[in-house]
Amino acid sequence: MKYTREDIVRMVEEEDVEFIRLQFTDIFGTLKNIAITASQLEKALDNQCMFDGSSIEGFVRIEESDMYLHPDLGTFTIFPWRPQQGKVARLICDVYRPDGMPFEGDPRYVLKKVIKEAADMGYQFDVGPECEFFLYHLDDNGQPTTITHEKAGYFDLGPVDLGENARRDMVMTLEDVGIGIEASHHEVAPAQHEIDLKYGDALTIADSLMTFKLAVKTIAKRHGLHASFMPKPKQNINGSGMHINMSLSKDGVNIFADSEDEKELSQEAYYFMGGLLKYMKGIAAITNPLINSYKRLVPGYEAPVYIAWSAQNRTPLIRIPVTRGEGQRVELRSPDPASNPYLVLAVCLAAGLDGIKNKIEPPACVNSNIYELTEEEKKKIGLERLPENLSEAVEELEKSEFICQILGEHIVKNFCKAKKAEWEEYTNQVTQWELDQYLYRI
Ligand code: GLU
Ligand code: MG
Ligand code: MG
Repeated sequence: MKYTREDIVRMVEEEDVEFIRLQFTDIFGTLKNIAITASQLEKALDNQCMFDGSSIEGFVRIEESDMYLHPDLGTFTIFPWRPQQGKVARLICDVYRPDGMPFEGDPRYVLKKVIKEAADMGYQFDVGPECEFFLYHLDDNGQPTTITHEKAGYFDLGPVDLGENARRDMVMTLEDVGIGIEASHHEVAPAQHEIDLKYGDALTIADSLMTFKLAVKTIAKRHGLHASFMPKPKQNINGSGMHINMSLSKDGVNIFADSEDEKELSQEAYYFMGGLLKYMKGIAAITNPLINSYKRLVPGYEAPVYIAWSAQNRTPLIRIPVTRGEGQRVELRSPDPASNPYLVLAVCLAAGLDGIKNKIEPPACVNSNIYELTEEEKKKIGLERLPENLSEAVEELEKSEFICQILGEHIVKNFCKAKKAEWEEYTNQVTQWELDQYLYRI
């Protein structure tokens, strides 16, 4: 355990912490919090802080609305971007019902359940996410735009990279709150950046990703910029992904590596991939939860479209990066940063474990550029597409008994209901594109 209860009480006092934010994440991946004053700390640490769950979309009905927050002591962190007198700290919490049972609509609980299953098999799930985002200008009213004046591209350096100072500040702030950063760079599109988190266990990384987005947005604002994690803010240029590097370790040793194998992958790694690929269609709604997510998953922008894996090129859904030995891993390229990291890691781990349990062999790897294959060639190797839009993805999720069982009835029901409404609202629109195409001609 990183901190005891006494440690936290002492730190709050010594560091002059005035407010403590009790945080949790809703089904849709939005960070929520209740701020308490330091005088309420003991009550919070006794798991006695409550909130009205019915006011949070998709959480609970009015009749059963009281929920308790159980702080995870190891997550205590003081926010360096808040005032340094009367400081603000946070504790990430698990959500419990009044009867003392964990709330099944809490995404952190869903991830913890699958992590426990992995632990029972002797595994730790280690992940390293690569998070891409855009930095745009704010307008005169402080509202975000999609305007950028920069023209930099992949790996470019300043002075072309105007976001460079902002990114440097973000990396230092993240390190300050204990989030290890492996690398950061300018991405392919103008104003697009990437920050890669250091490998860690899945729960820590999911917690870190929630803090990551908050910190990146906060620091961007300080530089007069808006950080957007929207998957595809502009057509005709790259969108933003959140690639996830995954491996399993046993007693601290990465078990995805096997020097005897031609690709240096162990049998477990192949089965894990087999499971991931098998359940991918049902997983898509979780890894790519917005209508806009599917505008990223189109040919030509380094985002995956087909359900395939490769040790060489970047078009497939799963890539095996060149690092070998302890760094051996599989990189899932479909997730985008709009997704709920707890649910993404939960379904991916569950699918991979199922692959190992049931010895699911992945299909043969595809080493050619998939976008250049003809329809016939694709058919011959049994290449299938990811769902093409949110509606199809929700249908696939509802069809996948396995993924539904991992997420639990409560989350599936509320998630699908909200996503269907989102889809309906979207398709009911009459867009400018339609007017441009039809108004004059028809
Ligand atoms: N931006 C690309 C995507 O949408 C990924 C680029 C890369 O390979 O890092 O996934
Ligand atoms: Mg990238
Ligand atoms: Mg990558």
